[in-house]
Amino acid sequence: MKKKINFQLMLIAIIAIFSTMILVSVICYNLFRKQILEDLKTYAHLLEDTEALSDLIEKKYDSRMDKVRITVVDRNGDVLYESDADAEKMDNHANRPEIIRTLAEGEGQAIRRSSTMGKSTFYYAIMTEDGNIIRVAKEADSIWSIFAGALPAIIAFIVLIILLCTVIAHVLTKILLEPIEKVAKNVDRLEELETYEELAPFVAKIKKQHEDILKNAGMRQEFTANVSHELKTPLTSISGYSELIESGMASDEDIMRFARKIHHNSNRLLTLINDVIRLSELDVVDRDEPFEVLNLSEIAETCVNMLQINAENHGVTLEFRGIACTVHSEKQMLEELVYNLCDNAIRYNNKGGKVTVSVAPADGKAVLTVEDTGIGIPKEHQERIFERFYRVDKSRSKSTGGTGLGLAIVKHIVAKNQAEMKLESEAGKGTKISVFFKGEDNGKGDL
Ligand code: ADP
Repeated sequence: MKKKINFQLMLIAIIAIFSTMILVSVICYNLFRKQILEDLKTYAHLLEDTEALSDLIEKKYDSRMDKVRITVVDRNGDVLYESDADAEKMDNHANRPEIIRTLAEGEGQAIRRSSTMGKSTFYYAIMTEDGNIIRVAKEADSIWSIFAGALPAIIAFIVLIILLCTVIAHVLTKILLEPIEKVAKNVDRLEELETYEELAPFVAKIKKQHEDILKNAGMRQEFTANVSHELKTPLTSISGYSELIESGMASDEDIMRFARKIHHNSNRLLTLINDVIRLSELDVVDRDEPFEVLNLSEIAETCVNMLQINAENHGVTLEFRGIACTVHSEKQMLEELVYNLCDNAIRYNNKGGKVTVSVAPADGKAVLTVEDTGIGIPKEHQERIFERFYRVDKSRSKSTGGTGLGLAIVKHIVAKNQAEMKLESEAGKGTKISVFFKGEDNGKGDL
């Protein structure tokens, strides 16, 4: 960027110098030409006095003194007098532009390229009272030779300007880029920095991304700590019971009991590990997911049937009501979603309670609702239950085989399906969780 700014500044300077030089040369040359013609005119009018002219002819005026050539021509263009040459040897001048013009208008001027390289001759002619024409001429540098003469100075000037521009461009780019470099170096305290107004949206975005990165890092660290802690409890108990068996001091009855504990804790470990793996799988952002068109009602019904025994064990009635609805999703994800929501509705229910799972179309969307008559979730916890390892009642969650990750997985699946979720719950009365899927042809009642 610095190099580009330097280069552009230099280019602007060179173009500016060249165009100024050309413009100044043209203006100066025009003034110079005007001045010469003006001088020649004055000269010609001085000579108009016939006496002066005859004096001149007699005395053989030496025009080399002031480098002015004088010619006297009659009406027919024949040369009567020529200061620089022999008049008799001169050819007829009737066809010279300045003579033609003088014959017509009384005076005339012309500029012609000289035989000498880089020179032009300026002519001015006037008609005298006796009908002859006096023409004065002077040789001067042409515009090109003036320009060529000035070229070394121009080049020297350009070199000087380039040197000056390099220094200025260097200082300018440094000043210009300083606030940007400052932002890059101090991402963690952007609010203290003063930068360009135009950079504000970028700075805000960088700040947001930086905060997100820090937040994510913090969350990941917290998650790792939580996972380690959750793994530690069942492992400690497995290790403890197996050590007791190993010591040989446990009775047969104890061994059976310890084995049951080991079995229970290893199942807990497996469930936990499966949930952690599933969460990290869902965390991966893959752009084009191979989603298929599925019947949500069919999947939910299969899941409910699978959970019937579970519900019976908890003394809960599990009911399903479904109208065929299509969704674009992945079968495993939908199964997990229904399973996790139903499993919670059963586990956090009261004996004799009820769980109703329903699938129905509404406003073009496929809606899955899991409603229970269970313990409910107090208002202050409702926002946080979707966080990893957040539980309202830790011991109830653990004693019913919860990992604290079920609703976090649900939240991920909902997001992956670009669906929306709504939670309605009242402590002591029950909970209703609804998921709204975008779908095709929903609301028409059949597939
Ligand atoms: P867990 O494995 O502990 O059930 P979840 O992530 O599935 O973890 O749920 C988080 C917490 O939300 C639970 O510990 C529980 O306190 C609360 N919760 C979830 N579903 C319900 C429900 N249907 N009724 C009452 N509380 C619930």
